[in-house]
Amino acid sequence: NTATTDFVIDDKIVENIFKPRNEFSHKGTYGKVTIAAGSYGKVGAAVLATKSALRTGAGLTFTLAPKCGYEILQTSCPEAMFIQGGENYIDQFDIDETSVCGIGPGLGTDSETEKSLLEFLKQHPKPLLLDADALNIISKDQKNLQLIPKKSIITPHPKEFERLFGVTKNSFERIELARKKANELQIYIVLKDHHTQIITPEGNVFYNITGNSGLAKGGSGDILTGVITSFLAQGYSEENAAVFGVWFHGKAAECAAEKYSKESMLPTDAINEFGNVFEELN
Ligand code: AMP
Ligand code: MG
Repeated sequence: NTATTDFVIDDKIVENIFKPRNEFSHKGTYGKVTIAAGSYGKVGAAVLATKSALRTGAGLTFTLAPKCGYEILQTSCPEAMFIQGGENYIDQFDIDETSVCGIGPGLGTDSETEKSLLEFLKQHPKPLLLDADALNIISKDQKNLQLIPKKSIITPHPKEFERLFGVTKNSFERIELARKKANELQIYIVLKDHHTQIITPEGNVFYNITGNSGLAKGGSGDILTGVITSFLAQGYSEENAAVFGVWFHGKAAECAAEKYSKESMLPTDAINEFGNVFEELN
């Protein structure tokens, strides 16, 4: 057995990951993101994930969403392009190979969504990010776990983690189980919590200490999906995108809480603080 290491994500780690923007660049330099999200009544999740990708520097951002989200998305995120994937929920994942995908927020678990997502995963070996209902769909059958492309990032909250991998007694057992699963499946597991942990396929654990209870609200996870997918598309390694993304998300929440309080701040306010977090890094 090889030794594993635990890290606390500190400023030094982040400074080493962060790549400042190059002036001699164009939108092609910063990658292509496709967010696949939303269903009738949950288009807001697609908006939040899309905005987060846009506000973290991705070169081109697409949103695959159902038709009922068309006007909402084109109005709230005019910089993103819309791909229609069905009427009220996504029923086809027709995503080009050059995109980095973040799939799951507000997706719903309709049987047609399930069928097309599983089909897509079978034919799409490239690492991607899976969150929320994408994970809930995978949880329906243990065999589906094998369909997650190697080196992908999954971002379950404790309940989603439990649905995927089973019940654990406490957070120590949960981390041990995550280590086992991350290794077996060769994926990165972002265990979202007050102190989120990122578990690598090698079994290393990164502990995050940014963020606050102002994030304990619907929509917070959707913005994390947009952030990490955007960093992946910009060429950060899977490990660095996950570590930097989780830290960045928490920092933005800290800025938002200073202005609006933890009670009142919304995920949207955290997105609006992304610029200040970048400013501190640059
Ligand atoms: P989700 O449950 O998918 O909306 O994700 C919630 C997001 O907010 C995750 O990134 C959590 O780590 C974060 N979050 C929720 N509650 C807290 C908390 N009390 N302290 C710090 N972060 C939190
Ligand atoms: Mg969520």
